[in-house]
Amino acid sequence: MIPYGRQAIDEDDIRAVADVLRSDFLTQGGVVPQFEQELCTYTGARHAVAVNSATSALVLACRALGLGQDDIAWTSPITFVASANAILLCGAKVDFVDVDPETANICVEELAAKLEKAEEQDTLPKVLMVVHFAGQSCDMSAVEKLSRRYGFKIIEDASHAVGGTYHNRPVGSCVHSSVTVFSFHPVKNMTTGEGGCAFTNDSEIARTMFELRSHGVTRAEDRMTHASEGAWYYQQLDLGYNFRLTDFQAALGICQLEKLDGFVERRRMLAKQYDHLLEPLPVSPLKQQRDTLSGWHLYVIRLNLTNLQRSRREIFDFMRDNGVAVNVHYIPVHLQPYFKSLGFEAGDLPNAEHYYDEAITLPLYPGLSDDDQQRVIEVLKRALAQE
Ligand SMILES: *Cc1c(COP(=O)(O)O)cnc(C)c1O
Repeated sequence: MIPYGRQAIDEDDIRAVADVLRSDFLTQGGVVPQFEQELCTYTGARHAVAVNSATSALVLACRALGLGQDDIAWTSPITFVASANAILLCGAKVDFVDVDPETANICVEELAAKLEKAEEQDTLPKVLMVVHFAGQSCDMSAVEKLSRRYGFKIIEDASHAVGGTYHNRPVGSCVHSSVTVFSFHPVKNMTTGEGGCAFTNDSEIARTMFELRSHGVTRAEDRMTHASEGAWYYQQLDLGYNFRLTDFQAALGICQLEKLDGFVERRRMLAKQYDHLLEPLPVSPLKQQRDTLSGWHLYVIRLNLTNLQRSRREIFDFMRDNGVAVNVHYIPVHLQPYFKSLGFEAGDLPNAEHYYDEAITLPLYPGLSDDDQQRVIEVLKRALAQE
């Protein structure tokens, strides 16, 4: 079976992890700060807070921006549930902005219209969490312009866009946002097993995220309410979590980060080949904007269902039955039973729902060989033409 995504682990990765396992500290040693330093160098962000998942990083970002009860945050319906859940886990209300039909990223026109209406009704969001779907950055200049006009803060869920660029800068630089989040889950562009990172250029946001990562506890005397009582002393200043990454995961991360550009280059090349090979077929890729270079986490096709005899379900099942583990990203979040219980309904976000009906994710990962890719295309051709 050809999977839709897969990690790329080599002997250097294994050695780096084993070295930490043989050392004195498995967690809270020096490797996590080193990983954070290298992530800053890579992205250009001033601060990096490495954590045990992107979901945790999103929660820290929301908390550091002060999101809580009585607040509203908006995000995309075409994302993994974690984006919206992070907002809810902070006690805030969530709402969704419909997507652009061609990129499946948040639609800036929809956003502008929704903001105008929210301003009239006094329901403006405190935070907008954009999602760089499949690895392509949202139009951050346009989103930032709106954030200045309407006064909301921006979180970039860049779980898919690790290694991508926007306006020639690495995604993660936080030039247009308060916080950007990466995921290091094994299907993503680089991995630490489980893991993630929150980037920011704001030292106060960084400090809050560092403290909340570890129970809201500080050992810095200048943060304490009174003088330290001795070398053992610490103070809990806020209600935090244990979201720490281990040092052996960070060691894997350092080793993977060195190879990230190579991974993304291979993904990009495979994506280009898909574009070319799929041209004659009744399917279309996501549109790529000129000012972005996608991190190519996912290669998604849209089926031109009006020209096809087969349903998406039949095409999907045929491919799975023939050795190609295609996937679907994503079921619109607002259609999940939990979100329906909050009042969302089918029909609320027509672009997202229409996108979902047509989408299939083809296999894409650095270890996918050209031969495997040819096989994916052959099986897709048969799936589209099947009698
Ligand atoms: C994978 C993913 C997450 C969650 O990442 P974890 O590291 O598994 O917590 C959040 N948002 C998006 C868009 C993702 O793809």
